[in-house]
Amino acid sequence: MWNFSFVFPTLLILTIILIYYYMLPHLDIRRNRVFIHITEAEAFVIVFDIISSLADNHYQSLPLSLTSIFNALFFAGFFFRSYLFFIFTVSVLGYSPKDNRILAFISRVPFYFSLVISMLSPIFGWIYYIDSDGYHSGPLYSLLYYVSLFYIAASFISFLYKKDVLENKRDRYTMILFNLVLLCGIVIRRLLPNLLLMDTFCLMAILVAYLGFENPEFFLDLKSTAFNDTALRRYLDEHGKDRSLTYFSLVVHTYNEMREIYGPVPMDNGLYLISLFLRHCFPKAYVFYFLRGRFVIIFREPISPEAIRDIIDKRFKEPWVLDGSELYLDANYSFYIPRDMVPSTDTILEALSISLSKADRTADNIPVEIRSEDINKAEAGLHIKECFESAIENDNVTVYLQPLVDIKTKRIIGAEALARIFDKDGNMIPPDLFIPMAESSGLINQLGEQVFEKTCRFISENDLMSIGIKWINVNLSPLQFIRVDLSDRFSDIAARYGVPPAQLHLEITEQAVEDDAFMQKQMSTLTDNGFQLVLDDYGTGYSNLLRLKKCPFVNIKIDRELVWDYSKNPDNILPTMVSAFKQMGFGITAEGIENEEMVVAMERIGCDYLQGYFYSKPISMDAFLETVKAL
Ligand code: C2E
Ligand code: CA
Ligand code: CA
Repeated sequence: MWNFSFVFPTLLILTIILIYYYMLPHLDIRRNRVFIHITEAEAFVIVFDIISSLADNHYQSLPLSLTSIFNALFFAGFFFRSYLFFIFTVSVLGYSPKDNRILAFISRVPFYFSLVISMLSPIFGWIYYIDSDGYHSGPLYSLLYYVSLFYIAASFISFLYKKDVLENKRDRYTMILFNLVLLCGIVIRRLLPNLLLMDTFCLMAILVAYLGFENPEFFLDLKSTAFNDTALRRYLDEHGKDRSLTYFSLVVHTYNEMREIYGPVPMDNGLYLISLFLRHCFPKAYVFYFLRGRFVIIFREPISPEAIRDIIDKRFKEPWVLDGSELYLDANYSFYIPRDMVPSTDTILEALSISLSKADRTADNIPVEIRSEDINKAEAGLHIKECFESAIENDNVTVYLQPLVDIKTKRIIGAEALARIFDKDGNMIPPDLFIPMAESSGLINQLGEQVFEKTCRFISENDLMSIGIKWINVNLSPLQFIRVDLSDRFSDIAARYGVPPAQLHLEITEQAVEDDAFMQKQMSTLTDNGFQLVLDDYGTGYSNLLRLKKCPFVNIKIDRELVWDYSKNPDNILPTMVSAFKQMGFGITAEGIENEEMVVAMERIGCDYLQGYFYSKPISMDAFLETVKAL
């Protein structure tokens, strides 16, 4: 006699999971579709488990053929479910049948085989047979275990091969737990075959999958209730190569300022209303919230960007009202209609991001089109990012040195350390491209420390004093400058290489010293530890003489634009400034010296040091040593 007391609660719990799953929107991606099929298969198996067990228990009152067919359907469903659990695992791991058609076919063989065996069992009695004594297991009954074990083993092997796809530990543990629960189910079924516990274990696995991977909230932005950026990434990973998709995106104009003006809560209400409006207007499209006031709408049909813009723009003329907050917002747009190329997910996202920043800067609301050259640019940007990240990770940032020349002796007295990064082919990537990236990603701290450490090593390995080099300037980004542990870290590194801190001049820009007591303290901590401070790029920010007066700089570097401007149209401004600084006790360096006339002009107005292509471009450390020794 079968005991199916566990089966009814299993069915009820499954219903609750499904209700919650369907209450929220979900994406059309493979793993979600497989998850739905698993729940359907589970429901099917449970129903036929109940029906066939009832029929087996009461076989005398039913035609044998009917009992037999119920059992066949149960076994077919059982095998299908085992197969689907495996397909779910590989879908979460990012495998697609298109990756390897042969493997995909092989993985289906046990399922097809067991399906045929199940369906033919009413005739041949392979898995079970029903005679006048009722239900009996057939000679191939163990196929049930072997096929299930095959798929669980295949799941574990796939996981081992591709576990890096799962970015966090939680996902990896979920994946292991999911398959372990299925394994336990099989073992227990084998030990206690009459209890029909397999369905309960499958339900537990479904619950694990739901809680760990499939909860629709993972793919929703909880503020705006649109799909989130993870969902966008997943969707593009699967459908990005589909050229029939079209993209329309919008950004709330000057989103950060608006958030400051209206406050975070009303602004979140605004995002929620915008998302609601977009989903209502374009019910067949997917609406994603792409962070920082940006939405991406993916259409699965051709669009007229202007028509969409008109619809959205009309709504933006009205205020967004919720809970007493009333927001007047403006929007800018961009769109992308893929033509000949099929860019990667990262490239599409980067291009969308760039196009929205560009749109946000425009005064009008004409949608900015993403063309193939923009896609190429986005790809190039990503390439730089990759090179840069790998250089940081592998300690591969190279330091070039540009000589600083003493104006009186015309000899090299110091150098500025400038970061360089090379791609795989040895092409140099200019700092103007990677420094902003380093700053926005926070990696500037690591970059700055690498440059500092390599400069210390260079000083310690070469007797610079003997060749007249008194110090080396190292650039400090404002982000490094706000770190409380900056001075300790730099002191430790300098001490490790036995370099006296006085041989290191730290260049900071006016941005970094904007007022405030902390900055003053930071500067005095650095100078107390023996470092020298230099003000970089003077003339590019808003200078405040009073503040500068309080700063312990040994030197002020006049920005090259100011130097060039003076050499084109000499007036009194630069000379007056230079003499004021000198009275305040600062040394002066003129940057961007490109010819003899500039040298003469800077000498006349009283500068102390010169830096520029006239003397040398930034060069490798070895080349620098040779240049100094050759003089
Ligand atoms: P910066 O600190 O103003 O560095 C001087 C820049 O001017 C260097 O550009 C140098 O090659 C360039 N330069 C020097 N003389 C001349 C000249 O006569 N004519 C012209 N046209 N340019 C000249 P580079 O190396 O491309 O660096 C650009 C910027 O990147 C730097 O400007 C600095 O702000 C940043 N940077 C470079 N390395 C680092 C670093 O290690 N850390 C930080 N935080 N920033 C860095
Ligand atoms: Ca500098
Ligand atoms: Ca500079």
